[in-house]
Order: sequence, then C-alpha cells, then structure tokens
Amino acid sequence: MPRTLIAGNWKMNGLMANLAEVERVAAEVPASSEGAETLLCLPATLIHAGSAKSEGSGLKIGGETCHANEKGAHTGDLAAEMLKDAGASYVIVGHSERRADHGETDAVVAAQASAALRAGITPIICVGETLDQRDAGEVLTVITTQMAESIPEGAEAAAIVIAYEPVWAIGTGRVATSEQIAEVHTSIRNLLVRRFGDAGRTTRILYGGSMNPGNAAEILAVAEVNGGLIGGASLKAADFLAIYRLA
Ligand code: 13P
Repeated sequence: MPRTLIAGNWKMNGLMANLAEVERVAAEVPASSEGAETLLCLPATLIHAGSAKSEGSGLKIGGETCHANEKGAHTGDLAAEMLKDAGASYVIVGHSERRADHGETDAVVAAQASAALRAGITPIICVGETLDQRDAGEVLTVITTQMAESIPEGAEAAAIVIAYEPVWAIGTGRVATSEQIAEVHTSIRNLLVRRFGDAGRTTRILYGGSMNPGNAAEILAVAEVNGGLIGGASLKAADFLAIYRLA
C-alpha cells in the first residue's frame, strides 16, 4: 500500500489563509516517515515563506500549477524549476478550475506534469467528471481519456500522484458516496496497472471534493483511496490537522 498523502489546496482564498496556519500545521506534523505524508499546496506568493515555516517538520509545500517550459517569455507564469527553488516538492496540475478558467487541455496538463518531473517535483494530476457527464453515464469514459492523455510519456508510476475530483463535489458540500468513489478509484487503479504493470499499484490516488473532518474517515477507508486533496477544510489548521490525524 502506498503511503497515505493528506494534501491541502489553498486555491486563491485571498488573505483568508495565511502563514500562521502553515506554522500551526507544521508544529503538529513530525518529520518522520511514519504515518501519513502531509502537504499544503499554496498560492505562489506564499510558497517561499511557507517552506521556511515548515522547515524541520514533516509538512511539505507545493504549488497549484506550473508552466510546461523551463523558462521563457510567459508573463505571469512560473516554471516548475522556480517552484522547486522556492521550496515546493509537489505541484497540482490539471485541477478542474484551471481546466475551466484557463482552458487547460489534457495535452497541456501532460506537458505541465512532465515539467514537474523534469524539475524533480511530484505532479498531482487531477481528473474528474462534471455533473452533466455523470448524469449522461460518461464517468468512466471521461476518466479513462483524462488518464490516458494527462499522464506524460515516460512518467514512472511512483513519481506521480492522481487526484480524483468530481467537479460537482468541489466546494459544494456534496461529497461523492463511498460507492461512487470506490468505482472510480478502482477503475483508475486498473488503468494504472494496465499502463505501468505492477508498479501501477504504487501510484497514490487521492480523493478530492468537499472532504472535511466529519467525512474523511469514511472516505479514507474506501478501497484504493490513498489520501485526500482538500480545499476549504485545509484553510484552517485545526480542520486540516483533524483529517491528518484520521489518516
Ligand atoms: P473542496 O474541498 O473545497 O471541495 O475543494 C476540493 C478541491 O478542489 C481540492 O483541490
């Protein structure tokens, strides 16, 4: 079983979440390879300072996206190498909000994931269906395509993380049922094994979508769930730590 990963995604929550919360989480997470691994993916403006606050603890810091290129004339963008230099060891790519807001396609996501691997940081590759796609019975088709096209050529199974985030469960308070999560996570695991052979069992598959301290235990107990990608409930150290302690 791969090591559980409890990851937060702070998104662009303005000044609501700040370094004091990073410090509170870091204070409670020992630097040890036991138990769950813990990660906060922060807005770019906080990565450097957040990394300094988490130094010496087991808390890791990540970014929320990256550009595919190592450098170039891309105003406002950040290369994976720059995130790493600021202290990130993970980066989320292909979040549904980026796919929707910035038109990021599977091909773009694969290039971003490849950039993360090139820089020596772990990409968390997000997949997930919309409500319309679920209602149309297309969940597994959508996931299969996203998995085939968002994972870059040459990636090693243990070097990537997959996050299943049903779009309709993000920020809505409407969490997927254990049966729905089990169905998709098992399919993702099968796709990984088909692609990578036995090594496909080492890839961590996270669930994301309205996860909180009240539902985390049930979600984390579902087959092929190797952790969570937590939005709203990661903004307060107490809630995030409560989920970490359940893992
Ligand atoms: P919420 O936990 O706020 O639903 O967000 C999930 C998410 O999008 C994490 O990437």
